[in-house]
Amino acid sequence: MSNVHELNFLKEKIQELKDQGVYRKLPVLDSPTGPEVILNGKRVINLSSNNYLGFANHERLRKAAIKAVEEYGAGSGAVRTIIGNMKIHEDLEKILSEFKREEAVFVYQSGFNCNAGTIQAITEEGDIIISDELNHASIIDGSRLSKADRAIYKHSDMDSLEKVLKESRKKYKNILVITDGVFSMDGDIAKLPEIVELAEKYDAMTYVDDAHGSGVLGESGRGTVDHFKLHNRVDFSIGTLSKAIGSVGGYVAGSQTMYEWLSHRARPALFSTSLPPAAVGASIEAIKMLMESTEYTDKLWDNAKYFKEKMSQSGFDIGNSQTPITPVIIGEEGKTMEFSRKLLENGVFVSGIVFPTVPKNTGRVRCMVTAAHSKEQLDIAVEVFNKVGREMGLI
Ligand code: PMP
Repeated sequence: MSNVHELNFLKEKIQELKDQGVYRKLPVLDSPTGPEVILNGKRVINLSSNNYLGFANHERLRKAAIKAVEEYGAGSGAVRTIIGNMKIHEDLEKILSEFKREEAVFVYQSGFNCNAGTIQAITEEGDIIISDELNHASIIDGSRLSKADRAIYKHSDMDSLEKVLKESRKKYKNILVITDGVFSMDGDIAKLPEIVELAEKYDAMTYVDDAHGSGVLGESGRGTVDHFKLHNRVDFSIGTLSKAIGSVGGYVAGSQTMYEWLSHRARPALFSTSLPPAAVGASIEAIKMLMESTEYTDKLWDNAKYFKEKMSQSGFDIGNSQTPITPVIIGEEGKTMEFSRKLLENGVFVSGIVFPTVPKNTGRVRCMVTAAHSKEQLDIAVEVFNKVGREMGLI
């Protein structure tokens, strides 16, 4: 007799998703990611990946990955703190610290792991973590793993942040202020100069998750800290290697002291196998490409400006993004998912993003224009948006 549970409590929840019109199967990609992909057997324009610079399938990254496999093998075989720390991992940290203009960089297996591991390692009981209300899920989860207390300030609201800081200074030993550099669902940039000033006033440490700013903002895509020229004024600067960099992995840039502590206490480095050489080799190549030329970042911004202007002229609500992230706000959850489905039927993949990823009734399809899109592909996408938007009475 089977001892496996029926999981009726989950079946009920799945039915609720169906009732709300947000149930979906995972889409299956049968090609490399890029401006056009084969999705569920059909060629479509892809406006949903984080592959900002088109590096994920770039020939130079593919070659670098193959070379790394030939030199170091397919897997690293151990956690970093035992015998999984290969020279190629150290090479990546070295080039990243040059790129980020910081003393040291500590690399993790993903951006998620970086937040999960770093926040916990640098805070303890008696401390407080102060977080923007729209910070990424991995920051929320990472903070939950810490024994420190937590507080939230209103999104990019400096009065709200100062209020929490003032209160906290009286009660806590260390204060850590965390913000996304670029907010992933709206594309707005954190008010980092003000945040840093307030943190300095109340002697708090600062932590910026620049997953969507790395490879996008600042000189040669060095990120939000570089964009505002705040080097040496932000304690922990996080980036991911999975978006603009086109590979996989995450990292925190900061001081040598930070590096030494994390290499002893960051739990993903202690208890999870290090990045495979292929991913590391590809990341190194991507950083070299960024430092060699602004060709890709220039093209990204040019394409984003082109697309945004056209979408706005068509009458879509594209929010207040300051970056290539282009949300098209629809509102109601079911309608958002229907819009996304109809766009796909017409050959454009843009994923619908609804509660709980964004607040209720702020559903949107989030367009991610990349450097790899041609103007023709963007024109076709806008045409499809207009057609479906008109059919659904959205414009
Ligand atoms: N932080 C932010 C702000 C992100 O958007 C993401 C990716 N969704 C992550 C961290 C996690 O990065 P990764 O995909 O490398 O785990």
